[in-house]
Amino acid sequence: MLVVMEAHATAEQIEAVCAEIRAMGFTPHPMPGPTRTAIGITGNQGPIEQAGRLQRLPGVSQLIRVTAPYKRVSREFKELDTVVEVSGVPIGGAGIAVIAGPCTVESREQTLNVARAVRAAGAIMLRGGAYKPRTSPYSFQGLGEAGLRILAEARELTGLPVVTEVMDTETLPLVVEYADMLQIGARNMQNYSLLRAVGRTQRPVLLKRGFAATVKDLLLAAEYILAEGNSNVVLCERGIRTFDDSLRFTLDLAVVPLIKQLSHLPVIVDPSHASGRADLVIPMARAAIAAGADGLIVEVHDNPAYAVCDGIQALIPDSFAAMMHQLARIAAAVERPLLSRVEVNGGHTTLA
Ligand code: PEP
Ligand code: MN
Repeated sequence: MLVVMEAHATAEQIEAVCAEIRAMGFTPHPMPGPTRTAIGITGNQGPIEQAGRLQRLPGVSQLIRVTAPYKRVSREFKELDTVVEVSGVPIGGAGIAVIAGPCTVESREQTLNVARAVRAAGAIMLRGGAYKPRTSPYSFQGLGEAGLRILAEARELTGLPVVTEVMDTETLPLVVEYADMLQIGARNMQNYSLLRAVGRTQRPVLLKRGFAATVKDLLLAAEYILAEGNSNVVLCERGIRTFDDSLRFTLDLAVVPLIKQLSHLPVIVDPSHASGRADLVIPMARAAIAAGADGLIVEVHDNPAYAVCDGIQALIPDSFAAMMHQLARIAAAVERPLLSRVEVNGGHTTLA
């Protein structure tokens, strides 16, 4: 349920509505808007029977039922787009954010090389896994804390905020020490204790769609994070499993405009895991921007043939730079600039 206040409702009237909602045993969420305040209600199981008590309070314009099962994530609950700020980088605003980096942190040299290269080509954030969810327990599992330290050094060197995966609640406190943004991977999208735990931090979260998850599953997973008080969530379409095994996954691009209708949260696309092939990454990245994605997360490696994981889908830095040029033109066609860093004042960077 959403209580929409009149445009001129006073702070006292808003507080009186909140108090009444609390008296009913529910939680009010006042959301000031450009013209008027709306107050969301959570905690109710089904329709609120005493809703008439709210309707009669001074300053109340109308009550709207939120029909979606995900409440705080839904567009019904919050009409305006959410912009998630990751250490100064706004995701979900007018600009398009391109995040790039290796699948995994293999070494200091490899990570710093790739970080420098993607920074030079215009990436706005750095990706890299220190804890890797691998299908086989015998595959490389990531460098762990040593990897996090390398990412922190790469951030220091380039000024790019870092997104890295957190796999479990045990390592969350450690990952929070280093990461600007916490990635929840496809395999963990429905790990509800982990979702709740990241929800109790205020750190931005990149929530990747599970490969057998419906859009509703994804939005309800995000709801776990918002319900704990963290609304800094960016959703990521990264391909799903279908009957077609021609590619690693099937990029489900129509969900980008669909999710933007259903939710106020930003949506980005991972064309690397979705296709699993470097030669398909650039066309899919172009399509994602054309479809309205708020950004991309792309794997780049300086020597893909020797990559420890996901080399087949990694772009080399030159291809990544070529992609950025193409994307700038597509972004212009959809009237959104690519976010970029420009050098000002002798090395300090700012967003343009
Ligand atoms: C990754 O980003 O490296 C990754 C493991 O992605 P996903 O969880 O989408 O498979
Ligand atoms: Mn990968």
